[in-house]
Amino acid sequence: MTDNLSDSLEPSYIELSEEALLQNIQFLKSCLKPGVKLSAVVKGNAYGHGISTFMPIAERAGISHFSVFSAQEARVVLTHRENHDTGIMIMGMIRDREVKWAIQNGVEFYLFETERLKAAIGQARELDIKARIHLQLETGMNRTGFEESEWEEVFTMVRENADALELRGICTHFAGAESMANYYRILNQNREFEEALVLAEKVFGSKPLAHASSSAALMTFPDFQYDMVRAGIALYGFWPSRETFMNYAKSNGLETQNDPLHRVISWKSEVMSTKWVEEGEFIGYGNVYLAGRQMKIATVPIGYTHGFGRNLTNTGFVLIRGERAAVVGLVNMNMITVDVTDIEGTTKGDEVVLIGYQGDDEISVASFGEMTNNLNYEVLTRLPSSIPRFWV
Ligand SMILES: *Cc1c(COP(=O)(O)O)cnc(C)c1O
Repeated sequence: MTDNLSDSLEPSYIELSEEALLQNIQFLKSCLKPGVKLSAVVKGNAYGHGISTFMPIAERAGISHFSVFSAQEARVVLTHRENHDTGIMIMGMIRDREVKWAIQNGVEFYLFETERLKAAIGQARELDIKARIHLQLETGMNRTGFEESEWEEVFTMVRENADALELRGICTHFAGAESMANYYRILNQNREFEEALVLAEKVFGSKPLAHASSSAALMTFPDFQYDMVRAGIALYGFWPSRETFMNYAKSNGLETQNDPLHRVISWKSEVMSTKWVEEGEFIGYGNVYLAGRQMKIATVPIGYTHGFGRNLTNTGFVLIRGERAAVVGLVNMNMITVDVTDIEGTTKGDEVVLIGYQGDDEISVASFGEMTNNLNYEVLTRLPSSIPRFWV
């Protein structure tokens, strides 16, 4: 990674706002009950923000636990953490050979199959280091997790192998808390989870640490916090969905224009070149855009290879000189053309904002694509890791 923007050869760059991150952390903490821990979810390259860039500032902002999907991501967090006590938790993919690596490095990991539970016990004994495990329970998401019929047997196995295992948590994941359509499904899941915790208390003799909620569940079901909340999208300043925000605002007497979350990311490039096109001419490949008048267009060195989707053909917008410029013609692999006819004085080298603010205007990630609820997640994580990232 380049530390200095002027050393970068990349056609675009990402700015991360430390102030926004601090505000989001503060807001999330204000939603937590006393004693509830916040785990920062940094899978998908920290939702496109860049794990290695994101980590140190998040740690300095007081985050002491990070959740990832895979052993590969856990290794990046491990390499970049500054505080040795910072916790790392793998919520998804881990192979038997990676289990050994995780145990050696004190990395916590989810278990959802007896086979891997046995592997973890075996590896831990061999290493003479306890494996830090989280038991993921199936409560109705129907993806991964121990089935209800296995709970008692699994809990007993964990208790009987306490010399090799450190039970760090019992957990589950709610299926789609960002949509009210799933309200009853989640209530049912939570009821199942409560039952599991009662059983766990019986088997272990004390209540193990429990966690279940993501950002959306935290906002919509504040009573389901248990001992830890795993927050991703909100940390980066995005609501899981518009619905989650409206609902939160209503329940908390918040004006919808006073959004407590602040976008951490901005994505910027520059005008590569400009030219005038005569009325009646097609712009770019094929006959996708016909100039209805004499037009000035600017090329921007960003395309679908950088995560600027082809679905933005003739639809997307960027900001130049504080004004909106429409994408005209096809989004190419490395380039887009935008209409700057009415943006006086546009010239080569002008800053182009693809996501974020310029002047008073803003391109949100949602308006960047269609207004689909879950698009934020996808657009963000598609931003290539090769784009240099800087804190401002
Ligand atoms: C991604 C993920 C989260 C965080 O979800 P957000 O909606 O980004 O807050 C929490 N838990 C699990 C298991 C996840 O996979």
